[in-house]
Amino acid sequence: MSARSSAEPALSAGELAITRHLLVHGPASRGALGDLLQLSYASMSRLARGLVEGGIVAEDVEPVPGVGRPRQILSVVPGARHVVGCKLTGDTAYGVVCDMLGDVKATAQVALPPHQADSSVSVAGTVRAITQLVTRLARKVTSLNGIGVSLGGVVTNRSIVREGTFLGWRDVDLATPLRERTGLPVVVTNDVTALAREQLWFGAGRTHSTFGVITVGAGLGFGVVREGVVVEELIDNGHLLAHAPLDSRGPRCRMGHTGCVAAYLNRDDIEHRASAAAGRRLVFDDIVRARAAGDDAATALLDDAARALGHLAATFAGALQTSRIVLAGEDVATIADSTATTDTVADRLRPGPDETQRCVLEISTAPLSFNDWARGAAVVAIQNVLGAA
Ligand SMILES: [Zn+2]
Repeated sequence: MSARSSAEPALSAGELAITRHLLVHGPASRGALGDLLQLSYASMSRLARGLVEGGIVAEDVEPVPGVGRPRQILSVVPGARHVVGCKLTGDTAYGVVCDMLGDVKATAQVALPPHQADSSVSVAGTVRAITQLVTRLARKVTSLNGIGVSLGGVVTNRSIVREGTFLGWRDVDLATPLRERTGLPVVVTNDVTALAREQLWFGAGRTHSTFGVITVGAGLGFGVVREGVVVEELIDNGHLLAHAPLDSRGPRCRMGHTGCVAAYLNRDDIEHRASAAAGRRLVFDDIVRARAAGDDAATALLDDAARALGHLAATFAGALQTSRIVLAGEDVATIADSTATTDTVADRLRPGPDETQRCVLEISTAPLSFNDWARGAAVVAIQNVLGAA
């Protein structure tokens, strides 16, 4: 690895609280931060001095008109830390290198080894590919301080891939060999959890302490943030929501449920239904093109998907008791494009005749490229390098 790579010590709890606030909400005066974080004048001064000396935070003096004391404005030094975020698919490692603010400085991608006879991808080969990616991206910045890797599946202890959906992995420790090869802190996360962590600092979390993330693409994914804390491991890998029943006369999902959310919304299921109806193999893009050309069957399929997405968002919001849901993923813009999603949500929110409570649900759509996924992993690495839980 590059000699400029360095593992820096994590911040203290007080330093982290200040840095996190500045990263999430932007520059603030020392006095206002002390009040917000309930720190005494002396503690605030000591912590700010430590952060300035450590190069994490810069302090500018802003004159106050009249006779007031000048205000000391703290802001994060974006280049104080750099991290690589890497998103693994079944065949490629997509990477970005980011500064402290999550701004992407460069991108790169490396092919993973081909699937082996047992349909898994070589772990050692994957570690080599990620190391190659990291080395390439490290040249683009002054120093590198950490690595975040995200992938679809179940990850425990932020290092062990219990189930690597697209890599055919079971119980693979990915963090340890990567740490050994690079000498840097490494954190491994489920990709949707990484996205939820990214949203917590740089997206929905700026205004909502509780929110949900739904991804729609190759499978349905869920991220949960409760009271400012990301739920690191889901109890069910999202099954309870993905297979919630919508229509007892509806189509069957691949698991055999009748009319569940996945039967309508999962890409594989949509393609399967369209192909069965057409008598030939159709992929998602074919269906989208057919809708654009005015094909009724394709329009009905995608409207069904849009309706299922509306129900899913409403149910998730109700269970989480949040008014904020983030939709993301490769297929989400196409599906949520139909008015069926907003109509369904509006219908679900409509109060009964004797009810006075009005609820509003804020649903945003963020289509995700692989580089955006990799940026999510980079934000997890920033949080890890700074010592955030
Ligand atoms: Zn199902």
